[in-house]
Amino acid sequence: MGTLGPGGSARPERDRLLVATRSAHKLRELRELLGLQADLVDLEDVGIFEDAIEDGETFDANAAKKARFFAALSGLPTLADDSGIEVDAIGGLPGVRTRRYAGENATDEENNVKLLAALSGLEPARRGARYRCVLALALPEVGGPRGGLPVRLAHGTMEGRIAAAPKGSGGFGYDPIFEPASEPPGGRTLGEWTAEAKNSISHRGKAARRMHRILGGLGF
Ligand code: IMP
Repeated sequence: MGTLGPGGSARPERDRLLVATRSAHKLRELRELLGLQADLVDLEDVGIFEDAIEDGETFDANAAKKARFFAALSGLPTLADDSGIEVDAIGGLPGVRTRRYAGENATDEENNVKLLAALSGLEPARRGARYRCVLALALPEVGGPRGGLPVRLAHGTMEGRIAAAPKGSGGFGYDPIFEPASEPPGGRTLGEWTAEAKNSISHRGKAARRMHRILGGLGF
């Protein structure tokens, strides 16, 4: 709850942080990665069933849009994640369309199958790819320079390549077909890594450690 600061000024609510996701997996990863005192809640916890429209051309734009939208709706400091994978051989696609690569309601498996087919026959050296993550923080109680909610961004990337075939059942999304750059071609995919090992070098891990410093500076 908000409290009164020195001089009686209203201090914004700082003990709950809304994570703008419906993915239990993302919430768990972020909770582990951020390791904050603050109580991390998700959209369902605060009874929000609307969705932000993710029509930005960049991860930055989509993350900022989501954070502002849900901060305005909830009145809570809000952290939004936009992430995806860029594959060199197909010009950086699927990029901002990562989740919907094989269609609007595509499953992870359908997305993996489509990407493997797009790279069919390509040697490992031409299968380069990277995960990107942008975390955006919007604080509802502060007005930005143009009247909107100001947003702080933190970025992270993870280099690797697309495997020849899926392996492992850990992680989510494209993890069964993503070989981190430290693996030899044909080595373990992220689906075969432990969560701790993934978090220590992942795009989301790097972005979260940067966001942790931003949040610390704001008193979380
Ligand atoms: P978003 O919910 O629009 O940010 O969708 C991001 C999509 O990128 C996810 O649905 C996954 O398919 C993919 N993605 C992002 N981060 C990861 C990861 O750490 N592992 C596997 N797939 C990921």
